[in-house]
Amino acid sequence: MNYNIVMEKTIKYDVVIIGGGTSGCSCAYNCAKFGLKTLLVEKNNFLGGLMTGGLVVPVMKSSAQNINCEYYNVLVNTAKKYNAQITYKDKNDGWFNPECLKIILDDILNQNEIKNNLDILFETTVLNIETLDKKINKAILISNMLSLPIVSKYYIDATGSGEFSILAGCEKLNDNNMIQQNTLRFILNNVDFIKFKTFLDSLDDSEDITNTYRDERNTRNEMHFTTASTWDENQLWKLDKYLQKGVKDKILHEEDRAYFQIFSIAGTNDSVAFNCPRINNYKDNPFMSSLELINARKSIWRIYNFCKIYFPGFEHAQIANIATQTGIREQNRIKTRYIYTKDDLTSGKTFKNPVLKANYSIDIHSDKKNKSILQKTSTYELPLEALMSYDYDNLFIIGKALGADFYAHSALRVQKSCMSMGEGVAKYLAKSN
Ligand SMILES: Cc1cc2nc3c(=O)[nH]c(=O)nc-3n(C[C@H](O)[C@H](O)[C@H](O)COP(=O)(O)OP(=O)(O)OC[C@H]3O[C@@H](n4cnc5c(N)ncnc54)[C@H](O)[C@@H]3O)c2cc1C
Repeated sequence: MNYNIVMEKTIKYDVVIIGGGTSGCSCAYNCAKFGLKTLLVEKNNFLGGLMTGGLVVPVMKSSAQNINCEYYNVLVNTAKKYNAQITYKDKNDGWFNPECLKIILDDILNQNEIKNNLDILFETTVLNIETLDKKINKAILISNMLSLPIVSKYYIDATGSGEFSILAGCEKLNDNNMIQQNTLRFILNNVDFIKFKTFLDSLDDSEDITNTYRDERNTRNEMHFTTASTWDENQLWKLDKYLQKGVKDKILHEEDRAYFQIFSIAGTNDSVAFNCPRINNYKDNPFMSSLELINARKSIWRIYNFCKIYFPGFEHAQIANIATQTGIREQNRIKTRYIYTKDDLTSGKTFKNPVLKANYSIDIHSDKKNKSILQKTSTYELPLEALMSYDYDNLFIIGKALGADFYAHSALRVQKSCMSMGEGVAKYLAKSN
């Protein structure tokens, strides 16, 4: 296909970041802050990736020893000003409002010291990549049927899927046959929080899976809660008896019980985000994946009706939002100079150039009953080399397409770690430039 070339002259940057999501925004913020002339390329018409389009809330809490958290702290402080953040009772300050985050991210990346060094292209993607030996020479971007040739010293693949690296011919990691289930997240609003909180408080006092919180330090005095349920038999989560009844009463299908999890949303007093339904992950079959999205929306409709009948407080709930970005936990991992392993993670191996220190668990959402894993870990480090392309000297992979084995990836993919990866790479580029 022929596209009109919009610019005769190739535009030059120090850094081009493909993907304005969780890791890409952090990298762009830091590169621009360090004075690198930066371009951020995003295929959606908003920033945030899974944090906004995927409705993924909250950010999972990380180790107190974590490094490269400056961008995260800016995010928390800016979101506070927008009344779009809360600090939960476990001191996790990463409970955000996903819709407001779209505006907040624009704000953060448009601050004076950032915007002077940063261009953002929305609704733009990569058409072609030119390489020479072990270097990426040029990227041809495509925006509104116009092609833009871009030259940069460094390229950052922050697509989450490794799309840019794969287009450049990089090798993928294929270390086992395991697959993480995907999820299509959604939001219900018009929920009576007082009624539902009272119900949850009477249901489960374990505090582990179900817990509720009235934020009295906050002048808004908001109520918050989270609860979950799974069909795995080794778990005794209290909500499951309701889901089992829903199946018996033919309101739910058996697979709707696979995983059910909800979080109240910061800055609202009536909106609940669902980390379900799970959808089968047909990695290499777009026809099957597309059918799964239709099935997922049918499941959302069943879960919505189920909540209205069985959960006090949901009687007048409405579907407010269905994620515009599918919740893909793991798609492609790209071969990097160092392939980080489960052993590195569980042994707490230390490295010369760590980009993050975290302790989020090994977390595998299996397609098989009783096979999901949530294994606690101590603090671990990720080396910069796990983000350096094996194939090209000027390419880095940040976010969930990093070079890690399947198990290590399941821990490293959480949002705060993805943000640290972006920041760690930006610091390295600023030093090398
Ligand atoms: C269902 C689900 C639940 C999760 N729950 C949690 C949770 O509770 N807490 C937590 O901390 N983490 C959670 N995670 C993990 C976390 O949200 C992700 O792993 C993380 O956000 C990934 O960040 P990323 O930067 O790699 O990708 P993304 O945030 O997805 O960003 C990628 C960006 O690249 C853009 N893009 C892709 N291809 C192109 C292209 N070719 N051209 C231009 N732009 C492109 C996309 O539009 C997107 O904006 C969850 C993940 C999933 C899927």
